Amino acid sequence: MPRNSFRFGPLPARVLFGAGTRAALAEEARAAGIHRALVLSTPQQAGLAETVAQGLGDMAAGLFSGAAMHTPVDVTLTALEALTDAGADGVIAVGGGSTIGLAKALAARTGVVQVVLPTTYAGSEMTPILGETENGQKTTRSGPEIQPEVVIYDVDLTLSLPVAMSVTSGINAIAHAVEALYATNGNPVIDALALEGIGALVGTLPAIVADPTGVAGRERALYGAWLCGTCLGSVGMALHHKLCHVLGGSFGLPHAETHTVVLPHALAYNAPAVPGVIAALAPILGDDPAAGLQVLAQRLGAPHSLRDLGLAEDAIDRATALAMQARYPNPRALEETAVRAMLARAWAGEAPLSEPISETAISEVMA
Ligand code: NAD
Repeated sequence: MPRNSFRFGPLPARVLFGAGTRAALAEEARAAGIHRALVLSTPQQAGLAETVAQGLGDMAAGLFSGAAMHTPVDVTLTALEALTDAGADGVIAVGGGSTIGLAKALAARTGVVQVVLPTTYAGSEMTPILGETENGQKTTRSGPEIQPEVVIYDVDLTLSLPVAMSVTSGINAIAHAVEALYATNGNPVIDALALEGIGALVGTLPAIVADPTGVAGRERALYGAWLCGTCLGSVGMALHHKLCHVLGGSFGLPHAETHTVVLPHALAYNAPAVPGVIAALAPILGDDPAAGLQVLAQRLGAPHSLRDLGLAEDAIDRATALAMQARYPNPRALEETAVRAMLARAWAGEAPLSEPISETAISEVMA
């Protein structure tokens, strides 16, 4: 913002939204070109995957229920054997970002068609991005073959998402939209989706905590997650996503919880550089949106320190160094001391602080 000149690519996935939409799965998979499908899930959602496979009849070629967080490459290679043994030409992923990540990893290696049924708010289904972990390092790649062809957002599948996970997953979604608002390659269409998505989630997360099986509240959250995932898939992310990527990939921290803890701090870090974004967020999150996000998360019972998520204090230096390594666009120049101080506050669970930008950083941004 302001966005006077931009590029906008059409959003490639076919989307079905609404309660009961999973009934169209077999028809959609067939139309997408699948003859034999391997159904994917985590071990925790194996029962749901089994039910989905039964509904596919002859099209179901097998089940693989070993998906794991941060898409470990060894799990993908085992799933690849299952895919080959089953003679499958498509995968059907039922689950959150971990299961969808596995579908993407298989599609990246084989070109299989993907139909996905998201059960969290992580948003991976709307992106052509794959993050994989090997030897303690998380790397990402992206390409059109990674984007799932069909996304079935069946609200019923989200009713079982535990309250704590619903809150952190919802804030994970909000993080995509927040960073889209200051993306250097952003555009006004994505800005509109971002604000709509953030508004939907901020409005409905308290309703989900109060009534986790209320369909209307869940519908609103899934709608918000779809929009926020679209933001993630359409424009570049910045410091917040880089930090979470490092904390998840190199320190094994849980994905959604880490996003929840870090987002207020990352937004506070960037706030002095993006007054227009802060003004746009104020009607939804208050005059200090970074503080507003932290208050919301705490009110909904979410974790608020990296210490509570299991990060050792002496990991802060290495995490800072890793976050500083790769160059990526961020609205505020990356100042090592300020990034470290911000991570230290997130570690201790302190309030987010918008430190003034140093003179050197201002001249770097202006250059
Ligand atoms: P997840 O998929 O790991 O799910 C967490 C746990 O909740 C799992 O045990 C899962 O089986 C369970 N679960 C999921 N939905 C449920 C439901 N409705 N009811 C009951 N249990 C349910 O968590 P996530 O946060 O969705 O995904 C995190 C992973 O996704 C990370 O590896 C992250 O890097 C990746 N991700 C990737 C992208 C991308 O664009 N590439 C985007 C977002 C997240």
